Amino acid sequence: MTRPTREQIGFAASTIWFTIPAPGSWTEDGECRRHPGYADLFTDAQSFEQADLPLTICADCPVAVQCLAYGQSLRADGVWGGELLKHGSVQRRLPYRRAS
Ligand code: SF4
Repeated sequence: MTRPTREQIGFAASTIWFTIPAPGSWTEDGECRRHPGYADLFTDAQSFEQADLPLTICADCPVAVQCLAYGQSLRADGVWGGELLKHGSVQRRLPYRRAS
C-alpha cells in the first residue's frame, strides 16, 4: 500500500488534526495541536533523524495510545502515538554497535 497523497487525505490546513477525520474527541487533546507549525514533521518523517522532534512532542501527549492505534489503522507513515510508522508498522531503531 502506498502512502496517500496530501490531496487524498484532504491535507489543506496547517495541522493534520484539522483535516484527517478521526473517531472520538481525543484529537482535541493531542500535544501536537500546540505545535501546528510542525505538522509536516509528523507526516513527512521517514527516518528517526527526521522523527526526533515530533517524537519528543509525542512523549508528553496524553492521547498517544489512541493516536498510535489510529495511525496503524490507516496504515500510515510518519510519527503517530510516539512511534515512527511505515505503512502502519512500528519502526525500531537499530541497536548501537561500536565499530571493532
Ligand atoms: S501522540 Fe504525537 S502525533 Fe499523536 S496526537 Fe499526540 S502529539 Fe500528536
